[in-house]
Amino acid sequence: MMKVSLARLGSAVRCQSLQQWWLTMTATTVAETDWRLVRARDGLGLVTFLAIVVGWICNWFGSSGFVMGWRKWALWCNRLGLVGGETNLAAWLLGIQTIKIQPYHLPPLGPHDVKVRIKALGICGSDVHHFKTMRCANFIVKKPMVLGHECAGIIEEVGSQVKSLQVGDRVALEPGISCQRCSLCRDGRYNLCREMKFSGSPPNNGSLANKVVHPANLCFKLPDNVSLEEGAMCEPLSVGIHACRRAEIGPDTNVLIIGAGPIGLVTLLAARAFGAPRIVIVDVDDCRLSMAKELGADEIVQVSTNIKDVGEEVVKIQNAMGSRIDVSFDCVGFNKTMSTALSATGVGGKVCLIGLARTELTVPLTSAAVREIDVVGIFRYRNTWPLCIELLSTGKIDVKPLITHRFQFSQKGIEDAFQTSAGGGNAIKVMFNL
Ligand SMILES: [Zn+2]
Ligand SMILES: [Zn+2]
Repeated sequence: MMKVSLARLGSAVRCQSLQQWWLTMTATTVAETDWRLVRARDGLGLVTFLAIVVGWICNWFGSSGFVMGWRKWALWCNRLGLVGGETNLAAWLLGIQTIKIQPYHLPPLGPHDVKVRIKALGICGSDVHHFKTMRCANFIVKKPMVLGHECAGIIEEVGSQVKSLQVGDRVALEPGISCQRCSLCRDGRYNLCREMKFSGSPPNNGSLANKVVHPANLCFKLPDNVSLEEGAMCEPLSVGIHACRRAEIGPDTNVLIIGAGPIGLVTLLAARAFGAPRIVIVDVDDCRLSMAKELGADEIVQVSTNIKDVGEEVVKIQNAMGSRIDVSFDCVGFNKTMSTALSATGVGGKVCLIGLARTELTVPLTSAAVREIDVVGIFRYRNTWPLCIELLSTGKIDVKPLITHRFQFSQKGIEDAFQTSAGGGNAIKVMFNL
């Protein structure tokens, strides 16, 4: 009797493609996606799947001729590319508050690229802005776009010239692809490159997908003791690291942080790792403040949203610090928060503006200028992944408590996740497990 094992049938229609087929079928059914988008190959995939099941049952009962017929069908479907292609699904932003899981055709793998199977992805404030308003600052979403950029995954394929990475490596992805030729890139300030292609920022597709193609030099190998979720957290952590570098945080700088959202909290962790002796953090939300306290803030101060309270609150904040405030980080970017930062910072200190809630601010700049307060800004980050990974691996920074919610990559999962993240409150980092 001709023995056809399940494993052999499985290899006829690769397991991976079956899994993909199943994902497509379930995800799109739940999604109530436009059925025109579910391609013919998915229907044939169903028949092929049944072929395997029927073949397996027949094999069990020993009817080998029947098995061969079904097996041939599966084999030919695979050969003709009717199943087993690169059916890759991604979360597409189609309109305001409208995200659908739909197929995403990857660009070809260049010689210096790698293909990464995404395993963990965190939702960023900018993703939520895109979701709610189809824009973030000056970046406007004009056509459907795949969301997401805080991610880590496993290398599935490497380009012909890639020497530094191998299939199976776990990597964290830096999302910004700069030109590497302009003067800013050559000076090492590549985050300011005018040609920057940043994942998940229009018009560039992001990474909330089964797989992405990414330059190998922007994929950083994770040591065994750093999880893929922690790898995905390198992106928000990078913002805190870059801000601390720009503000020259060290063992002599007392730090005030305004805003205890995800960026405020990563700035807190980074400032502590850079040696800041005393850190005070302020916010309007007591839930977020207690999280900041748990993460190691020395003092927390609850503030209002009323600009008239600035004077009174600055005194409260300075008392909470107990000594001079050397550096203030505004992780929000409202008139009130920046006014507080400029007023609370001691003579000769620095204010670093991270949050960009408003494009223009009205602030007491003159009084800050005569106290020689330096105002610095940051735009994303540069050269931060190796340090992030080292700080995570050595345990100097623990980002795990920031991950407050986890969702699966399904239509319902993405809808719930974005609503949760947009709701703020106790949601700090909302993470997808793919
Ligand atoms: Zn981000
Ligand atoms: Zn450049």
